[in-house]
Amino acid sequence: MRSCDVLVIGAGPGGLAAAFSARKAGAGDVIVLERDRKAGGILNQCIHNGFGLIRYNEELTGPEYAARAISEASDSGAMILLSRHVSDIRKENDGSFSVSAYTKDGIEVYRTKTIVLATGCRERTRGNISIPGSRPAGVFTAGVAQNLVNIRNVMIGRRVVILGSGDIGLIMARRLTLEGAKVMAIAEIMSEPTGLARNVSQCVQEFGIPLYVRTTVSRIIGKRRLEAVELSDLDRDGKVIPGTARRIDCDALVLSVGLIPENEVAQTAGVRLFANNAVDTDRYLQTSIPGVFSCGNSRHVMDLADYVSEQGELAGRNAVHLINDQDMESWDEEKSNCMKKGFPEEGSVTCTICPNGCQVVWDEKAGTFSGNRCRRGARFAMEERSNPVRTVTTTVKTMAGDGPLLPVRTLQKVPKDKVVELVSELRSVRVEKPVGNGETVFSTDIEGNHITVIATSDCGE
Ligand SMILES: Cc1cc2nc3c(=O)[nH]c(=O)nc-3n(C[C@H](O)[C@H](O)[C@H](O)COP(=O)(O)OP(=O)(O)OC[C@H]3O[C@@H](n4cnc5c(N)ncnc54)[C@H](O)[C@@H]3O)c2cc1C
Ligand code: SF4
Repeated sequence: MRSCDVLVIGAGPGGLAAAFSARKAGAGDVIVLERDRKAGGILNQCIHNGFGLIRYNEELTGPEYAARAISEASDSGAMILLSRHVSDIRKENDGSFSVSAYTKDGIEVYRTKTIVLATGCRERTRGNISIPGSRPAGVFTAGVAQNLVNIRNVMIGRRVVILGSGDIGLIMARRLTLEGAKVMAIAEIMSEPTGLARNVSQCVQEFGIPLYVRTTVSRIIGKRRLEAVELSDLDRDGKVIPGTARRIDCDALVLSVGLIPENEVAQTAGVRLFANNAVDTDRYLQTSIPGVFSCGNSRHVMDLADYVSEQGELAGRNAVHLINDQDMESWDEEKSNCMKKGFPEEGSVTCTICPNGCQVVWDEKAGTFSGNRCRRGARFAMEERSNPVRTVTTTVKTMAGDGPLLPVRTLQKVPKDKVVELVSELRSVRVEKPVGNGETVFSTDIEGNHITVIATSDCGE
């Protein structure tokens, strides 16, 4: 049996940051148990950029962010053990905890003084929202669709309808469009999109994808495979308005209808949960069981990985403070609530330099800017009008890695109107040899500018 001071369950950004900060705060042995074969959590399938703007002051893709978090944790001396599915937590008479984990060789038991739960969340499914109609193949949750398209090289359909306008649904709308699908509609039951304004602007409006609010999928049509869905308008009470149903032919329906904190392991320890499965912690992120902390999406679903990491760090530090009988630090619940959500304001440019998503209004005649919280917003608004550019993120095929795809991004920004063309060109690129994160896999010239495409993850030995 292995013993440690802090045992972290889950190696997503929350758990990795908890392990790193626990070591930094002076913990002796810190162990992270992860059920997957790879650390990094859900970020491994989030190949788009927009991560790390707060934590690293750099724009990274999900796999790049995960790689940094993994290095920080392992360089600090924390031990990350993969393919370990934690099934049970038990409190011992001496105040320590026994934690059991399944491995391919049987059950392992760990003894620890404190625990940080960082088990993430799972998606709500069709079963959670009961859509009437048949049950054909072709209905996916957004995360499953993301995994199939970005990791397994499976295209889920050619004509896609998305239900729900949370960030994962919006990001998948752009991803599927870049992969050659037509996103016929995004339907949202609320009166505003629920995702960040920066995603509404860059993932939906930029590609001319129709987004209907106060609208739902009122029927699923198709026997073996999905053939169509029926969209209907909703009244203010959320009830379908009779006579508004219209048929949209499609071969895939993507559900982006919310996330549920994953806390089955927490329950084995008797940790108190709210009705929505989130963990009830005090302001020190300590659960109802002293010595057990919780962070990230398993505590309460959060919008940005950067804040998850920050919260993980606090949980890890507080675990050490508890062991050393020191004062613990408080988490500021308001911290992650400053980002603009919903439709961008009319006549404004959504600044995407940082997650705040300021709505910048540029009065060209008067030469004034408003709505930007910092000067970078003014520069961004001017560039958006004169020369809009984007970092392109996608995948290329590989013969060298564990899976069929390697995530990549451009090192330089590409003119907005050349993005689709470049992604389409990259579809025929094949990486034959192992490459490391950051290595060049392709280069080309666009409008006289050299564009380098780099791997955003290690591939092969
Ligand atoms: C499909 C999807 C897409 C997302 N896209 C974005 C995005 O684009 N940008 C963004 O900022 N945020 C995104 N998010 C939110 C994202 O969850 C957070 O940003 C962040 O990854 C959450 O970190 P976490 O550490 O709390 O959880 P996760 O990253 O989910 O990590 C939890 C880890 O715990 C492990 N685990 C769970 N149970 C056990 C167990 N019993 N034993 C051992 N290990 C266990 C899991 O395998 C996983 O590796 C997305 C979320 C989902 C579900
Ligand atoms: S204007 Fe400044 S604060 Fe606002 S989104 Fe842009 S960079 Fe962020």
